[in-house]
Amino acid sequence: MNVIELKIREKIIALCKQMNATGLNQGTSGNISAVYENQMLITPSGIPYDDMQPEQIASISLEQQGDDYQGPCKPSSEWQFHRAILKSNSAFGAVVHTHSNYATVLSIARQSIPACHYMIAAFGGNSVRCADYATFGTNELSENILEAMQDRSACLMANHGMVVAGDNLDKAMWAAVELEALSRQYYEARLLGGMVVLPKSEMDVVLEKFKSYGLQSEDEAAE
Ligand code: 13P
Ligand code: ZN
Repeated sequence: MNVIELKIREKIIALCKQMNATGLNQGTSGNISAVYENQMLITPSGIPYDDMQPEQIASISLEQQGDDYQGPCKPSSEWQFHRAILKSNSAFGAVVHTHSNYATVLSIARQSIPACHYMIAAFGGNSVRCADYATFGTNELSENILEAMQDRSACLMANHGMVVAGDNLDKAMWAAVELEALSRQYYEARLLGGMVVLPKSEMDVVLEKFKSYGLQSEDEAAE
């Protein structure tokens, strides 16, 4: 295995462990994928993150349609929506799916998140929508997610959790942490009452600023 591919596989595992250690996710829920050349590298299904080895990460073609995969373990049951999201926008290089608490609570209530905080702009617009419900691991779930992610890089998934995409693994994980924080803030503000949603005119300003704002990779920070 080439060194770059090995590093991506190791990074996927490190982020899986991180999302559980920080409480963003739990158990074997959630999954992570990243693009490597014309392949999607994705966590295997149902393997505890502490036991996961780089060679167990499954590889699936981004070009072919079928469900063929390479690897000793089955890919995540959610490989269909990971591949559909990565193929939907060439800027996306990685996808993180979690069952994080507050995002999941909102998804159970089937509520989208409005512009309750300017950080909503991190997901490409003035809302994060909640995708319609479909059984986990189905093509229908994949279609519902793509619809909810129109012009967005994230969505909630009804009675399930959240999914976010990013240019690379670090940015996708950064966005997942931000979406869980936003979900919590929205939920708690609703409990308090008197919530004010930012108007479209202000969100247009913020969205413009976000074209050059967000987690900086080492290369970008050096520019
Ligand atoms: P996998 O272990 O198959 O990735 O499933 C976890 C999950 O979150 C399904 O939605
Ligand atoms: Zn899930």
